[in-house]
Amino acid sequence: MSLNRLFWLISILLMLLFLTLIGRIVSSEWSVYERSTKSMPAIRNLQLALLVEEKLAAERGPVNSRLTQESDDAAEAFAGLEQARSASDQSLATLRHALQVQADPQLAPVIEHVESTQQALAAARKEADLLLTRPKPQRDMAAVGTALEMMTHAVGVFAPAISTLSGIAVKSDAQLSDGLQGAQLTSSLRNIAGQIGSVFVAPIVAQRPLTTQEINTFSKLSGQIEQLYSVIELQLHTYQDNPTVEVALNTVRDQYLGAGLGFLDELFVIGRSTGNYGLSAHDVTARYVPKMAAIPHLRDLVLAEMLKQAEDKNRHAAYVLLAATCLGVIALGIFMLLMRVIRQRVLRPILDATDLFTSLAEERLNTAIPIPRHDDEIGAMMRAIHVLKAHSVAKVSLEKQREELITQLQTLSDTDFLTGLMNRRAFFSQGEQQFGIAQRYRRQLVLILMDVDHFKAVNDQYGHPGGDQVLRGVADLCRRYRRKVDLLARYGGEEFIALLPEIDLSQGLAVAEKLRSAIDACHLQLDDGQIVNVTASFGVAAFDSEAVDCDKSLESLIERADQALYQAKHGGRNMVVASPQRKFDESFSSSDAPI
Ligand code: GH3
Ligand code: MG
Ligand code: MG
Repeated sequence: MSLNRLFWLISILLMLLFLTLIGRIVSSEWSVYERSTKSMPAIRNLQLALLVEEKLAAERGPVNSRLTQESDDAAEAFAGLEQARSASDQSLATLRHALQVQADPQLAPVIEHVESTQQALAAARKEADLLLTRPKPQRDMAAVGTALEMMTHAVGVFAPAISTLSGIAVKSDAQLSDGLQGAQLTSSLRNIAGQIGSVFVAPIVAQRPLTTQEINTFSKLSGQIEQLYSVIELQLHTYQDNPTVEVALNTVRDQYLGAGLGFLDELFVIGRSTGNYGLSAHDVTARYVPKMAAIPHLRDLVLAEMLKQAEDKNRHAAYVLLAATCLGVIALGIFMLLMRVIRQRVLRPILDATDLFTSLAEERLNTAIPIPRHDDEIGAMMRAIHVLKAHSVAKVSLEKQREELITQLQTLSDTDFLTGLMNRRAFFSQGEQQFGIAQRYRRQLVLILMDVDHFKAVNDQYGHPGGDQVLRGVADLCRRYRRKVDLLARYGGEEFIALLPEIDLSQGLAVAEKLRSAIDACHLQLDDGQIVNVTASFGVAAFDSEAVDCDKSLESLIERADQALYQAKHGGRNMVVASPQRKFDESFSSSDAPI
């Protein structure tokens, strides 16, 4: 896997890991935040509902008092009842308003329960008011019982509202379950405390012993109170670390279960015997009711504690969410920056360096090498690559020079310094090849040997340098008649040699003749302005693979051309002589006549 791909793979994996981690934190805190956001109004609703229950239960007391006793102070009793009714109405209205404002479909059945409770309450009040219009002696006790039962019924109608709201609160946060049940049970305790107190109202008003039914009711409710308290203690164990809740629990135990219930126990003892209580109903209410205050106080405290915990959770979750999001964004930014820095400062230079090393290895020296911008290890590496490149450039240049030198030397070693023609050594080297080809493929080949006539005399007349100039002029003339495929060389002294492939003897003779006449006609001018006329003699031999004694080597062909040249010299010079050709079935005939 390439370094680049590996880098991206690791980057993506790290990014995914990081995002998953942040995602987990955010999602878990979000669920805490959501739960606490939902549980806060749910607890407040339940708080309001339990207050309604308390007020409804509390309203039954004054109704009971007014229906069963002829008050010493009618105005005071009336005011007490009105106050209780107003408190019930207000608590119901507050709850209803709070529920309606939230516009939560879950709360619709609760609103219906509130409305039903209001209706039941109105009916109970109507019944009580009807009885109150009559003087006490005319009040039928059964009707009084019915009116009080209707009040109790109103509390019962409201009970589903509490359980629904409690259910919603538990659904919003299951951890609230114990506290909510504790608060509800405390509320029930307050109810039963009211009911057990009202057992004594009628007997005390009549200053009579308790009936069997009243005794049973008292015993039953008294047992329920003991039980409820133990259950409440259990339910609220999670809140007992909170000293205020513990103090409130102890206060309920001391003030209500101890003093309040103890007072009722005293009345119960009298009620079971003489029925001579020595107290008015008003006195009983004044001594008993304040002892119950600790119960709603505990309930309110538990609900307030739950609300506080939910608010703390909500605030903490919001803080963690914000912090996690901010830290996540910052960390992500830093991570991406880090990846960018690693990529730009480490990975990219390494990849570039790899390309550069490959280029240098392949001698692609025009590749640009970036200028190092940082004084770090990568910068040092880039500087080293610059040095390497400089060395490579120098090495390549030296190699080039060497090759040029070799070529130059080669040329020099193959070239005749005076005429610039091929020298004898080079002629043999290339001539052998040509001869080999002709021999193998039975191709035609002509060799011309040329010698300047009486050159000694030229030297004598114009001096050696003049002779050199003449030789150069003759060489230039020869060059003009040479085809690209022909080999032309200075054979030695004033002798020149040419090898002409792919032509026969007659064509070779024609070429030699053209050259001869050109030399003959040429007036060579020396540097000092003198004009020199020279002639040359030519010996021509053709290679014929079908000849009886065909040449076996280049030397043999040259030998025959030399013999022809010899004949040209002896024939009077300035002429072309062909070496005779001998065919397989032709009789040997030598011609030494010039053409
Ligand atoms: P012919 O061939 O007609 O029989 O007479 P010739 O005078 O040309 O023959 P010979 O071979 O005796 O003389 C050749 C002369 O060429 C001798 C030598 O001094 C001269 N020579 C050879 N090489 C050079 C050279 O490089 N420069 C000059 N100037 N003369 C040279
Ligand atoms: Mg000669
Ligand atoms: Mg000569």
